[in-house]
Amino acid sequence: LQWEKQVRASAAPRRPGGLSVLVTGAAGFVGSHVSLALRKRGDGVLGLDNFNNYYDPSLKKARRALLDGQDVMVVEGDINDARLLAKLFAVVPFTHVMHLAAQAGVRYAIENPASYVHSNIAGLVTLLEACKSADPQPAVVWASSSSVYGLNEEVPFSESDLTDRPASLYAATKKAGEEITHTYNHIYGLSITGLRFFTVYGPWGRPDMAYFSFTRNILQGKPITVYRGRSGTDLARDFTFIDDIVKGCVASLDTAERSTGSGGRKSGPSQYRIFNLGNTSPVTVPALVGILERHLRVKAKQKVLEMPGNGDVPFTHANISLARAELGYQPTTNLEAGLKKFVKWYLSYYGYKARNDEVTRTGSAKIM
Ligand code: NAD
Repeated sequence: LQWEKQVRASAAPRRPGGLSVLVTGAAGFVGSHVSLALRKRGDGVLGLDNFNNYYDPSLKKARRALLDGQDVMVVEGDINDARLLAKLFAVVPFTHVMHLAAQAGVRYAIENPASYVHSNIAGLVTLLEACKSADPQPAVVWASSSSVYGLNEEVPFSESDLTDRPASLYAATKKAGEEITHTYNHIYGLSITGLRFFTVYGPWGRPDMAYFSFTRNILQGKPITVYRGRSGTDLARDFTFIDDIVKGCVASLDTAERSTGSGGRKSGPSQYRIFNLGNTSPVTVPALVGILERHLRVKAKQKVLEMPGNGDVPFTHANISLARAELGYQPTTNLEAGLKKFVKWYLSYYGYKARNDEVTRTGSAKIM
């Protein structure tokens, strides 16, 4: 009962007309930022996260503490737990679900393919089943990925492009997610918005991503591995700053049409949308390293290797006209400025001090 009370309090909007949002993956990078932004506006937010150890769980706990401080509760649980989901939907009439829980990362699929099926396919279906049966049916906004464009060579990537050449199991599960959500829209009238994020970075980011692990290694004087394409070309990514992504997520929630169906029946039109959320200006990996070196005031020791073919694609580049037109999405932070904010966070979180031309470590937070 105490638990139900806490869940209800966290999910209750603080302003008239505010949303009540279940955020899955709330202890994750994007999920924690979106939860804080919604709370700041006065929306009701309840987080759900299984706190898995794909990367440093203490970072997830630190994000949770941040949410705690803003009265956002994060329930520890798995999206595959149908009973837990049914309980949450019975306690709270969520207006929206922001579904960000997933097994992320492209290379890890070689090591642990089952985790992608567990979270990105089975977990997605379990969550959609719960949404389908909920009354009212929440509008669902979820994270797909730019990786669905796979080996496409024509850039920039547009939503209408074919997505039939995934280069990793991660990409394949995100593509499957787009098709699975489509069927739930078609049969049950669930309102669905899929967001294809392009390489999101920023404070409180993911330690498995290149900008993060490069920063760690550069500061520790360890070498970084920079991959190049088969033909000697540099890899490039359409790096997108977290605050821009958050704005795109919030605009998607605000413009999502509420379903009219309930109890698993379709009873009226509902939306199925897909948007690119990128930055529209790809940067090569060597240029990324250059920016980090400048911000960190340390030269990187680089090992340059040919891309081993473990799931990475050579380049990404978003066409964002659709998101601009329908969501008013307009990224405003370039990589230089965004990495400056990331480095500032990193140095403070891990207890480094930047003085004159030198960065020294004084803190004791575990570096993973
Ligand atoms: P993240 O790993 O930081 O966040 C995901 C969170 O989900 C984690 O806290 C994890 O513990 C949780 N989780 C995983 N499986 C779960 C399960 N079965 N049940 C409950 N919780 C579970 O990743 P992120 O970078 O914040 O990514 C958020 C979403 O955006 C993911 O769907 C990811 O695939 C997608 N995405 C991210 C990027 C990016 O560059 N960060 C790019 C494209 C797409």
